[in-house]
Amino acid sequence: MADAASRSRGARVVLLGPPGAGKGTQGQVLCQHLGVPAISTGDMLREAVAEGTPLGNKVQGIMASGALVDDATMADVVRERLAKPDARRGYLLDGYPRTLPQAETLAGILRDAAQELDAVLLVDVPEDELVRRALLRGRGPNDTEEVIRERLRVYREKTAPLIGYYRERGLLREIDGNRPIEDVTAGMLGLFGAGQGVNPGVDREAAGA
Ligand code: AMP
Repeated sequence: MADAASRSRGARVVLLGPPGAGKGTQGQVLCQHLGVPAISTGDMLREAVAEGTPLGNKVQGIMASGALVDDATMADVVRERLAKPDARRGYLLDGYPRTLPQAETLAGILRDAAQELDAVLLVDVPEDELVRRALLRGRGPNDTEEVIRERLRVYREKTAPLIGYYRERGLLREIDGNRPIEDVTAGMLGLFGAGQGVNPGVDREAAGA
């Protein structure tokens, strides 16, 4: 098992992928495996909205429309969260970064702490399947087809460029998210398997890439 090795070393991992690809679900499994906290900026913002904090009031309407909260606000949120003691040995970031400027902010935070990312996991699912899943789930007021399509459009325009950004930096690992949840989980854990951590060369081989 990789658990002991991963835990002793910690790990800094970014989960990337379109809204509804199952990043949250997979993140829960992976963060336990790695022994690091899962940090979801979406969850943090939803909490702020629920609590009616100044941040919550500022972002509520933006979130409801499917748009992105501005990079400066998100930089404050993430900087503060990553400075907490539980993130010292690593974290799994879900939902951040979402724009190229955010990726640069994260790079700066890491640089200042003399740290590096271990991997960026892209969980990919075709867009039609994402819309189908989202409508099936239909959880909240922000889950109308219009808002779902807007979130996907924003993903394509603002977030998808991060795929190339992290690929160029040798950090990207791709996971086919269009499979049963257990298969996605197995594929993902395979990348971190057999005590090899997330070393790029080893993991590409392990993933059969
Ligand atoms: P999520 O749960 O990650 O899909 O996030 C829900 C909503 O929160 C998004 O649609 C955005 O409005 C906002 N949000 C979460 N993370 C970010 C981020 N990194 N940058 C900008 N907006 C974000």
